[in-house]
Amino acid sequence: MSTANPLYDAFIRPRREDARVFLHLPGGESVTYAQAMARAHQLAHVLLENGVGPGDRVAVQVQKSPEALYLYLACVATGGVFLPLNTAYTAAELDYFIGDAEPALVVCDPSARENLAAIADRYGAALTTLAPDGSGALTDAAATQPEVFDPVARGEDDLAAVLYTSGTTGRSKGAMLSQANLLSNAQALTDVWRFTDTDVLLHGLPIFHTHGLFVATNVTLSAGGSMIFLPKFDLDAMIEAMSRATTMMGVPTFYTRLLGDPRFSRELVQHMRLFISGSAPLLAQTHADFEERTGHRILERYGMSETGMITSNPYDAERRAGTVGFPLPGVAIRVVDRETGAAVAHGETGVVEVRGPNVFKGYWRMPEKTAAEMREDGYFVTGDLGQVDGDGYLAIVGRDKDLIISGGFNVYPKEIETAIDALEGVGESAVIGLPHPDFGEGVAAVVTRTHAAELSEADVVGGVADKLAKFKQPKRVFFVDALPRNAMGKVQKQVLRTEYAAAFAPKPG
Ligand code: AMP
Repeated sequence: MSTANPLYDAFIRPRREDARVFLHLPGGESVTYAQAMARAHQLAHVLLENGVGPGDRVAVQVQKSPEALYLYLACVATGGVFLPLNTAYTAAELDYFIGDAEPALVVCDPSARENLAAIADRYGAALTTLAPDGSGALTDAAATQPEVFDPVARGEDDLAAVLYTSGTTGRSKGAMLSQANLLSNAQALTDVWRFTDTDVLLHGLPIFHTHGLFVATNVTLSAGGSMIFLPKFDLDAMIEAMSRATTMMGVPTFYTRLLGDPRFSRELVQHMRLFISGSAPLLAQTHADFEERTGHRILERYGMSETGMITSNPYDAERRAGTVGFPLPGVAIRVVDRETGAAVAHGETGVVEVRGPNVFKGYWRMPEKTAAEMREDGYFVTGDLGQVDGDGYLAIVGRDKDLIISGGFNVYPKEIETAIDALEGVGESAVIGLPHPDFGEGVAAVVTRTHAAELSEADVVGGVADKLAKFKQPKRVFFVDALPRNAMGKVQKQVLRTEYAAAFAPKPG
């Protein structure tokens, strides 16, 4: 018996000779657990040869592929710290991440090699490549390695991964996640969502983010189930694969896009066990439309890079639209006044704080930022605004930094967005605060229309006039074809704030 390594012992060791399928790939190919673990072991040898020791970062910016997953498992086996990077990041952004994280090894797409060579060199990292089809210098080096590997000993508090936050403002921070953070969350989710080895998860998410990597993959590994592993979200491929899946995890845009396709019918998903949504708010309307079309109630959950998953709607009891449910087993939340830090009453809005084995170890090399967001009693300040209803369901009403203070009054964008979204002809909306000479911030709404040009600014303002106090009503309404979103479907309010920054500026002269 070799040394202990909690994640290895939970996810890899029991499956080294397991002949059941782990991944179903496009084109009908499949990979068994035993094959996947053999690949991970070969990669683990390559990591050691590249000088990756316990605690050393392995920065990975590659397209989604099975090999990228095996690389994550190889990091687990060697004690390397897996550091996935959004494929959209440019060379200039990578310079920051690589300079900040100082990885021992950088793994990139062969097409990026030239651009990254100087950056890797500057920070003393080795560089290797992995292409979307699994070829590249990394897998070439692995091909001749043994398929067995003696895992490196790791403790629960040792780092397993660093996830850079999506960073809509300021510099992106590296959230340090320990072995216990990942393992406790995977086990809690497997339990509350009833995942078993008969589950087949339809996986169309990216794997550089907590959702596709730690929620989807770790839950599958923990349950011993399998995944239909698609290179990306592709409507045709998702619909085609649906009949072979039992569960699906997606961001809200997956659900709206599926609903937009007439092939997505009740018959198509009759056999499905569970649909899960998260990473951005699911509109109550989408929840209702989905139930009407399919008979399934989407289970919405809430979490973030720093904490993994925090709350989830229940499996058996009511899945309440517009809420993210209850804290996971072992996790505690509280909603506090943003100024005093005192707990607010049920139904009141405050900042969500969380404590539990899922809460990260801090921001990589940013002790002051960590201290600023960590309470003395161990609660982490999420920066999300929420309220708990009388039955204990948490609803997320926005980010603290998106709160608008207009003329000294707090305006919660979600409340205004809900009122606007209910108007005839509105697709969706984003409400933002913009610099205003009299009020400090003025409320503005950016709106998409379901029927081009049939809705005016006056219609929107007039439509909410009898529902919202005057100070909450938008003073300007802008129409766009689509709201700007990041890869996880989050609306990028910062982009809108920049674009419309001068909306209330005094007219020159
Ligand atoms: P990330 O670290 O990229 O996963 O982003 C985490 C943030 O996404 C959270 O702090 C929330 O603001 C948001 N988020 C995640 N899940 C939900 C959800 N179900 N509803 C509303 N916001 C969510």
